[in-house]
Amino acid sequence: MAKSKKARRLDELAAQIRVCTRCPLHESRTQAVPGDGKYTARVMIIGEAPGKEEDETGRPFVGSAGRYLDHVLEGTKLDREDFFITNTVKCRPPKNRTPKSIETRTCTSNYLFEQIELIDPELVMLLGGVAAKAVLGVKSVNEVRGRVVEHEGRRFIVGYHPAVRFYREDLGEKVKEDFALLKRELKKL
Ligand code: SF4
Repeated sequence: MAKSKKARRLDELAAQIRVCTRCPLHESRTQAVPGDGKYTARVMIIGEAPGKEEDETGRPFVGSAGRYLDHVLEGTKLDREDFFITNTVKCRPPKNRTPKSIETRTCTSNYLFEQIELIDPELVMLLGGVAAKAVLGVKSVNEVRGRVVEHEGRRFIVGYHPAVRFYREDLGEKVKEDFALLKRELKKL
């Protein structure tokens, strides 16, 4: 079957991302990571940036965050193929540092915002402060976590990034709460 116009544009964006040199993050990447999943997904998950395993494989959420997501989805009727999963910036920052604002702005304005428009999900989960700030313009995760937020006609859940559990043990419970909220909202779709 011929691909839809939207699917062709999403393929085009992915191809552009793989060779993109618009910000300095291209210098240190192994592979850019455009995102993975159904172009017709009802739910998008957006993290911060690719980590080591993502950078090596070109696929998002294949490391510990991905395993955590698989664990969360156990017992629901959904698996990760039902989502579109991507990151705010598509190239791994050196030593996993936080992306700079100019890098985030460049990447989202060229790629992420258009991916969201084209996929047009009913629900978006933003993981971590970088994603929440870039998409919703909030200052911190805490400003918006724990509830569904309506923004420009779309519904969002904001949570801590699952990777935070490894260096902030105290946030482990909060990550669980965030994904419990996602699970509850998924059941309503
Ligand atoms: S992070 Fe985004 S804008 Fe920067 S080089 Fe990679 S794809 Fe391009």
